[in-house]
Amino acid sequence: MSKSIPTSAVGLKAGSKAKAVSSVQAYLEQFGYLEDSQRKDDELAFESDSVFLRRTSDDHVLEEPLSGTPGVLDDSTVEALKRFQQFAGLEATGEMDEATREAMNSKRCGNLDTSPVGEFVTGAGKWQTNNLTYSFQNYTNDIPNSTIRWAIDEAFSFWSAETPLRFRRVSDGTTGNIIIRFVTGDHGDGYPFDGPGNVLAHAFYPSNPDPIRGDSHFDDAETWVVTVPGTGFDLVTVAAHEFGHALGLRHSADPAAIMYWRYQGPHRYLSSDDIQGIQSLYGGPGALENATWIHGNAALIEHPSRIQSQRYYGFFNRIIGEPNTTNWIHFALPTPVIEDGRRLVMDRFMLRASTGSSAILRDVHIRDGSTVVALLNEVNRSGNLGFEKFGVASMPWVRWGISVSLGFDFNAGSNSQRRVDLISAGFDYK
Ligand code: ZN
Ligand code: CA
Ligand code: ZN
Repeated sequence: MSKSIPTSAVGLKAGSKAKAVSSVQAYLEQFGYLEDSQRKDDELAFESDSVFLRRTSDDHVLEEPLSGTPGVLDDSTVEALKRFQQFAGLEATGEMDEATREAMNSKRCGNLDTSPVGEFVTGAGKWQTNNLTYSFQNYTNDIPNSTIRWAIDEAFSFWSAETPLRFRRVSDGTTGNIIIRFVTGDHGDGYPFDGPGNVLAHAFYPSNPDPIRGDSHFDDAETWVVTVPGTGFDLVTVAAHEFGHALGLRHSADPAAIMYWRYQGPHRYLSSDDIQGIQSLYGGPGALENATWIHGNAALIEHPSRIQSQRYYGFFNRIIGEPNTTNWIHFALPTPVIEDGRRLVMDRFMLRASTGSSAILRDVHIRDGSTVVALLNEVNRSGNLGFEKFGVASMPWVRWGISVSLGFDFNAGSNSQRRVDLISAGFDYK
């Protein structure tokens, strides 16, 4: 179990043998900077579990963990400390200062850190199929089960929107490529959780053997939430990060990436670093197959009284919301249901729009007839939305016809800041 780094660790320098050295070394061992002195005795178990195995069959060269003398801030420990500081974006002094202690005590993912470079890291294998299944072995009591399912679906949709990957939920239990568990303490995989705080979750890379590969575990000693802002950890954000591991990405040192090692609050989108990383493994989403589009002027506004003005400018529809209001804008999309005798499946919603800085696209809700298909909440897009993609990760059959509801926040600001230009909305079917 990891423990917090005590304040007495601040000021430790090369050669120090103070008591706090061991807690610093324990952290560096836990996240792969130093060799784990205990685990060496149990090499076989480590090999067969090989959860966060550093040796990879791919060509990415990872730095081997260093071998330090327990209880001494020796040269190896100093070097390991420098590597951690570099990875964390701190000055690589090799000495413990308050910033380093704060970084070590931050809320984070339990997977190892791997590389000092500020970009995505692969080399943890990949799946040989684009059609993956997942299941819940259990749920957390923090949130209703149905809400957990929406949150997990949303997390998968970030990855499906940018790749050919699709994720289908199968019945609860231990089937499925990716098994989701909420567990506390020692839960049988050799990587016990540590109570509230510090490590929040971990996931097994595809390079691991079946059946553990892909499995994603969440520390149920944490308080999980799906509301933003909320007091607790955002399940959508942490799940999307863990699924990045489950698909073959390691930690990125890019703080904008969802694969950043540290929890920085809700982050419900992929950065360009994440997209490059996942596409290097699985390729892009491929060509549109049965896309239908409608113009922005087909939008219906739920609360016209909260709109300051609305005008059609030829190909786009400009809506200016009253300050500090929320509104819903609905699109009924032309929906092919059966084509050449074959029922189509829903693939993704696409939006072309542009907003001022005070108009935020908060939620994207997708319905088929009266059935809710996807609730993508707190996606929080703003600015130039040239071609935003929102995946329906599980690709259900089309039955009646698709409607998409866009929830907008109009915050304080000038007219141009509270502006939404809707250009067109589209849906692709497969
Ligand atoms: Zn991680
Ligand atoms: Ca924890
Ligand atoms: Zn685990």
